[in-house]
Amino acid sequence: MHPVDATQALVARGIQPSAQRVAVAGFVLDSTEHPSADVVFARVKQSHPNVSRATVYNTLNALVRVGLLRELVLSEGRVVFDPKLAPHHHFVDDDTGAITDIPWDKIPVGPVDGLPGLVVREHQVVLRGRRLPT
Ligand SMILES: [Zn+2]
Repeated sequence: MHPVDATQALVARGIQPSAQRVAVAGFVLDSTEHPSADVVFARVKQSHPNVSRATVYNTLNALVRVGLLRELVLSEGRVVFDPKLAPHHHFVDDDTGAITDIPWDKIPVGPVDGLPGLVVREHQVVLRGRRLPT
C-alpha cells in the first residue's frame, strides 16, 4: 500500500497517522502473507529502526478495531493478520506454516444459519496439507 493511501486509511478512521503507524499500516494492509505481529515488527524495523514492539502491536490492534484488518488464529497460539476482509478460505502449509488464500467459491459451504442454539459470527474452511513440488 502506498504511504499516501495508508495515511488516508488511518485518517479516515480517526487514527493519528504517525510515520510509524503509516509504516505498519502500509505493510500489513498490502500483505498477502498473513503476517504475525512479530513479522510486521521485523519488517517495519527495517525502515523505522526506532519503532517499538508496543507501537506495532497497538497499531495492529487499532486496525482490527476499526475494521481494516482481521485477526486470524489458524493454528494454536499463532495469531496472524489478514487485510482481505471479503470471505475466503485458507490453506496452511504443514511444512512451512505459510498461509494461502483460497477463493470462497472454490469450496462450497452449506448454510450455517439454523444450527440449533448457535449464533455464527463467521465461518471459513481451513485446509491443511502440503504443497506438491513444482
Ligand atoms: Zn486470508
